[in-house]
Amino acid sequence: MPDLPPGPQVLVVPRAMPMGYGEQPFDRFVSSVQTFDADDAPLPVTRQDGPRWLIGRDETTVFRIEYNVDIKQMEQEIFSAADTSKVRPRYLGLLGYSVFAYLEGFEKHPARLVVEVPDDWPVLTTLAPRAPPSRGKSEGKAANFYALADSQVVAGPDLSVHRLNSTVPLFLALYPDGDVDSPILGRLVEESLQQIMDYFGTTPFPHYTVHQELLRPVSDRHSYGFSMEHLDSATFYLSEDRGLTAASPPQGLARTRYNFAHHFAHAWIPKRSYSKGYYPFSWELAPVLDTIWFSEGFPQYAAIEAIADGLPAEEAKRYREDMLTRRFRSSLEQAPLFIRRMSLVELSRVASTRYSEDFRTGRNVFSRGGLMAADMDELIQRQTGGSKSLRDALRYLVEWSRKEQRPFEIEELPVIFEQATGVDTREVLDRWLKPQDLR
Ligand SMILES: [Zn+2]
Repeated sequence: MPDLPPGPQVLVVPRAMPMGYGEQPFDRFVSSVQTFDADDAPLPVTRQDGPRWLIGRDETTVFRIEYNVDIKQMEQEIFSAADTSKVRPRYLGLLGYSVFAYLEGFEKHPARLVVEVPDDWPVLTTLAPRAPPSRGKSEGKAANFYALADSQVVAGPDLSVHRLNSTVPLFLALYPDGDVDSPILGRLVEESLQQIMDYFGTTPFPHYTVHQELLRPVSDRHSYGFSMEHLDSATFYLSEDRGLTAASPPQGLARTRYNFAHHFAHAWIPKRSYSKGYYPFSWELAPVLDTIWFSEGFPQYAAIEAIADGLPAEEAKRYREDMLTRRFRSSLEQAPLFIRRMSLVELSRVASTRYSEDFRTGRNVFSRGGLMAADMDELIQRQTGGSKSLRDALRYLVEWSRKEQRPFEIEELPVIFEQATGVDTREVLDRWLKPQDLR
């Protein structure tokens, strides 16, 4: 604990996940909450409404808290692989926000994490990754609760950790080993991270971990398609039959490369350059967000551009056009009328809590954002004779966010972009914010 003042405290278990665009009842899997003073005498604990426990009493200082989390039950009851921790006979994969709690009012305090597992188990925290991983015990530090909650812990004999080649310490944590061609996967990670770092021109993290699980579905209701980005890591989930091997078709490789690049790009946007709701984060109720089209659409566009940058000119042009059509334009064309008639902010608010659950909302909000990015890029390149592009605008925005340390407002975007490129993109922004079917 930090040096707490005497008196009761409120212990909060998250229900919302940063970038999760939804909620999960993580508090349901927490039991046996116990709290103690400095002399190890138990203090009272009262369950409150929501994911909260009132702990301690007047004039006594809370010194230590204990609780259990039932990971097996969590995985059985949460159907989205990206939202739940996992436990197997020889493997443990923990998502920070599903197991860590905070004391209300102390979210900004730094945290020290000590993980202890069976002596012979490899264990790694993404707060301080290393290869080979340590055994039995691992430690890390987090600047605040967000950084702790956004980290992962992986452990067990079936875990393998590979150090990859990069200008930044880069790690691939794999479960299980053997069912996937780790050199192929590692090379794709190395290449796509480098392409994204080249696009943004910066390396905002001290190290980066790619965590990939190939899982036997717990039931046929469980789904394994979604990936999740974090501050210094990204987690990828596939059902066991979808691993990448030397026999995978080129489309499979291309899809994985794009998926990696897209999620890596989130380390810049919106993890470190964001608008309201992304940070500071509301852990108990998923925030209602106005700008998912930016946070999802623009990094996806950046990923397309970053990959295209590595291709010969003609091929790059084809790749770009093909991706804009397949990923963005087609979703707009196939969208039901009631979704097309939503303004982009309205659609973003709706997608804030059901992005993947009703993926029509997620897909349409990122597609309109991606096409907005493409139109802005074209305008900037046209008006500057090709000397500037959206890449300059996004690099400038990331730097602006680093300096300002605050969320940007939608109205500020064209101002910031004009400062970066000299081009006014407001017309493009306004056009895409409108409903897309005015019939
Ligand atoms: Zn995304």
